[in-house]
Amino acid sequence: MNLTTAASLPKPAPRASDPATLAGEIIERLTYRIGKNAAAAKAHDWLAASILVVRDRIIDSWIASTQETYEAGAKRVYYLSLEFLIGRLMRDAVSNLGLMEAMREALSSLGVDIDLIRELEPDAALGNGGLGRLAACFMESMATVDVPAYGYGIRYVNGMFRQEISDGWQVELPETWLAHGNNWEFERREASYEIGFGGVVELAAADGSGDHARHWKPHDRFIATAYDTPVVGWRGERVNTLRLWTAQPIDPILLDAFNAGDHIGALRESNQAEALTRVLYPADATPAGQELRLRQEYFFSSASLQDITRRHLQYFGDLRTLPDKAAIQLNDTHPAVAVAELMRILIDHHDLGFDEAWDVTRRTFSYTNHTLLPEALESWPVPLFERLLPRHMQLVYAINAKLLIEARKDRGFDDGAISAISLIDEGGDRRVRMGNLAFAGSHSVNGVSALHTELMKETVFADLHKLYPDRINNKTNGITPRRWLMQCNPGLTSLLREAIGDAFLDDAEALQALKPFAEDSAFQEKFAAVKRANKVVLSNLLRDRMGLKIDPDALFDTQIKRIHEYKRQLLNIVEAVALYDQIRSHPERDWVPRVKLFGGKAAPSYHNAKLIIKLANDVARVINHDPAVQGMLKVAFVPNYNVSLAEIMMPAADLSEQISTAGMEASGTGNMKFALNGALTIGTLDGANVEMRDHVGAENIKIFGLTAAQVSEWRSGGYQPRKVIEASRELSQALSAIQSGVFSPDDRDRYRDLIQGLYDHDWFMVAADFDAYHAAQRELDTLWGDQPQWRAQAIRNVAGMGWFSSDRTIRQYASEIWKVL
Ligand SMILES: *Cc1c(COP(=O)(O)O)cnc(C)c1O
Repeated sequence: MNLTTAASLPKPAPRASDPATLAGEIIERLTYRIGKNAAAAKAHDWLAASILVVRDRIIDSWIASTQETYEAGAKRVYYLSLEFLIGRLMRDAVSNLGLMEAMREALSSLGVDIDLIRELEPDAALGNGGLGRLAACFMESMATVDVPAYGYGIRYVNGMFRQEISDGWQVELPETWLAHGNNWEFERREASYEIGFGGVVELAAADGSGDHARHWKPHDRFIATAYDTPVVGWRGERVNTLRLWTAQPIDPILLDAFNAGDHIGALRESNQAEALTRVLYPADATPAGQELRLRQEYFFSSASLQDITRRHLQYFGDLRTLPDKAAIQLNDTHPAVAVAELMRILIDHHDLGFDEAWDVTRRTFSYTNHTLLPEALESWPVPLFERLLPRHMQLVYAINAKLLIEARKDRGFDDGAISAISLIDEGGDRRVRMGNLAFAGSHSVNGVSALHTELMKETVFADLHKLYPDRINNKTNGITPRRWLMQCNPGLTSLLREAIGDAFLDDAEALQALKPFAEDSAFQEKFAAVKRANKVVLSNLLRDRMGLKIDPDALFDTQIKRIHEYKRQLLNIVEAVALYDQIRSHPERDWVPRVKLFGGKAAPSYHNAKLIIKLANDVARVINHDPAVQGMLKVAFVPNYNVSLAEIMMPAADLSEQISTAGMEASGTGNMKFALNGALTIGTLDGANVEMRDHVGAENIKIFGLTAAQVSEWRSGGYQPRKVIEASRELSQALSAIQSGVFSPDDRDRYRDLIQGLYDHDWFMVAADFDAYHAAQRELDTLWGDQPQWRAQAIRNVAGMGWFSSDRTIRQYASEIWKVL
C-alpha cells in the first residue's frame, strides 16, 4: 500500500485531552503496556505510562505532517549532525502540545506528582555542548516554523559521560540513558542500510558505460538501523523526525567459528558493530588519527545519504532533481564525508557523469562552520582515509583536481593559494581537510555569528572565499524560547504574559513590548521576586546535592559551559582569588555578597581543563571555610553540567559570564539563555555577545577587554604577559598565591605549570584582560547596590533578546540557504 491509498483510509478519531480521559489512558497504558496495576506501579512506571499517552497524541500529527509533505511534493531539510544534545523530552512535548495543566491534573488524580516523575526521565546527552544543543534547538524550531525536516545522527548507547567530582577532581562515569528503555523512540527495522569499510575498488562496467563508475567491494560490512523520535513544534502543529542510527552486525554470530570452539571470534562482528555506535567522542580531544571516529562519521553519513536518496527516488524517480527536493545541512565538518558519499551514490549506482554529479551535490549541500581553532579543524591522514574509504579517496582526488584546475587555470591562483584551498594538506604527513571538502561541496557556507563569519573570511577560508566570494554567509545562532524561557522559567513566563500579553509565546520578538516596564517599579518588584524564587530553587538543589549553603539574596555570578582555556574559567577563578584577597584586606568595606558558580565538563584527555576544575574546587574549599569572608563570597563548582542543570541554573543567575578570548568563541548560546532569563552579561566582544550588545543596548551589558583585532595584534606584536602581570598588583598577588600552593597545601606544585604558562605565553590573554575584567566586576558591584537600576537593565535584556530565538535563525536558513519558505 502506498501513501496515496493510505490517505483515503479511515483515520483515528482525534483524541480528547481532558484530565479524566488522560487519567483513563494512563491507567490503560500502565496496565496493558507496562503490565502493572496502580498499586504496584513505581515512579518509573508512571513516567513510562505518561510518555506513552503523550506520544499517542504526537503520532497523529506526525503522520499528518509526513502525509502533507508528501502530497505537496515539498522540499525537505536534512540536518546532519554527529551530536544532538536533547535533554529531557517530557516537559517539552507536553508543553508544546498545550497539555501541561491537563496532564498535571490527570496524574494528580492518580496520586502522582508530574514534577517528580518528570525528573526521573534521563537527560539524553548525545552531544558535548553548544554544537549539539544548537542541533536540538534547531529541530524544535524547524517543527515550530513548519519546515519539513529530518535530523540525522547516531544513537550512542553511552552519550556524554556523567561527571562526578571526587576530592575536587573530575571523574568520568558512563551515562546509561537507555537503562530504563526509551519510550519516545520507534525502531525502524525496515529502514536499514548496509555500510561498508575497507576492501578494494574495481572498474565497474566492462562495456565502457559509466566512464567514471567504479565498483567498491568493502571488506567489513555493517547494518545501520534507524530509531525515530518525533519532534513536536510549538502548539503541536508540525511533528518532524529525529532519525538516529545504530550499527548491527550482518552476522550476529559466526556459527562456523562458534562450532569450531572459537567463541570469542564468533562474536567478532557483533562486537565491532556494537563499538561503532557505543560512545560519543569528547570535543577538544583532537580526534586526529582516531579510526573509530572516522568510522562513525562515515557510518552515519552513508546511512543518512542512502535513506535520503532512497526516499527521493521513491517519490520523485530521478536523482537529478535531488536539489529541488532536498537540502542537506552539514553541522560542522563531522558529516563532510557525505559530500563524497553522495558523489559515489550518484556516479557508481545511478550512472551520473562526474560533472553532473558534482552539480547535483553542490546544489544539495550546505555547511555550517563552528570553530576557527586550528586544532579543531578536522583532517584525516591520507593512508587511514584511503584504507577505510578507498572509493571516497579516489573521489576526493577527483574533486580536488577539478577545484585546483579551476583555481589555477581560470583564476590564476598562485602556489600559496593553491596549497591553502587544496583538499589535501601536503605539509608534513598528508591529510584530507574536511573543512575544505565541505566548503567545496556546498553552495552555502555559514558562520554562526556576524563576527565569526567575518573572521572565517579572513582566516581559515580566506583563499576559498576568494575563489567563491558569494558562498560564505552568516546565520547567527539562536535558542528555542520554549525550552529556554517558557519551560525552564514558568514564573517569568506568567509575569510576562500578565504584563505584555501572549504574543511573545508565538513570536519572541514581541518581547520588545516589555521595554517600557523596565522603569516600572511595581513590575521591577515582581520581576525580582521571580528571580529570587528561582534562586531559592537552586539554593535548595545545591544544599541537597552538595551540602552547600548559599544565600539567595547574594549576587549569583554564573559561568557554566564546557571547560576550555579559551572560555577562560581561569580568568574568573583568578579574579575570585583577587577579590578574596581584597575582602580580607578590607573587611570594613561594603562588599556585595556574591556567589560564584561554576559548572562544566572537561574533555577526559584535556589536562589543563581538568586542572582548572580542580583549581575551582580548591579555591572554593579555602574561601568557603574562611570565616573572614563569610557572607561576602562563596565559590562552588556544581557537578555534571547538562541540559537539565542548565534549565535550573540559567533562570537563577543574576550575572552571566561570557568572557572568552575575543575571536575564539564562534557564537555561544549559553550567553543567550542567561540574558533571556533576566541575567546581566559580563563579556568580551566575542561571538554573539557583539550582537547581543546591539539588541539589548550597550548600556545594559558589561563589555570589557581586548577586541578580536587587538588580540591578534597583541599576539603578533610580541605580547609580554610577564610585564603585564608585574604591572598589576592584584593580578600578581593572586597568581603568586595560586602558584605557591596557598590553595593546594597538599600539593604545592599542583598549579605551578598552569600559572607559569600565563607568565610565559598566556595564549588566551588572561593577564591582558585581567585588570579590565576586575574593574568591570567592581562596577557591577556598584550597580548591584542600586537595585532598581540593576533590575531595569535586566528587564531590558529580556525585552531585547527575542531576536535570538532559533525560530529567527531557522527562518533565515530556510529562506536564504534551503529555499523552503
Ligand atoms: C547552551 C548549552 C551549552 C553551550 O553553552 P556556551 O556557553 O554557549 O558554551 C553547553 N552545554 C549545555 C548543556 C547547554 O545547555
